[in-house]
Amino acid sequence: MITEALPTHLGLLVLNQDPTEWARRYDIEPFSYPCYWCGRMKHCNIPFVRGTLRGLAAARCPCGSTEDTYCMVRDQRFGDLLDGDLSG
Ligand SMILES: [Zn+2]
Repeated sequence: MITEALPTHLGLLVLNQDPTEWARRYDIEPFSYPCYWCGRMKHCNIPFVRGTLRGLAAARCPCGSTEDTYCMVRDQRFGDLLDGDLSG
């Protein structure tokens, strides 16, 4: 994977973590979605952390698209988004 393809702006990437284990740990529903520009499938399999959120992101598409594909949830230790502390 080339470095430019990593969605580093989404948060802290956790590159040594197995994405399946990460998804199970935080109850994230991994998904794949076609690139809006070229139709190539993008797979959300890069674990990342952004504040109290935990997610899986897809690498940037090699066609040069700047769109981001990701899924994320709130770490349950911080409560859910409706009744948890939103200051994190
Ligand atoms: Zn593309």
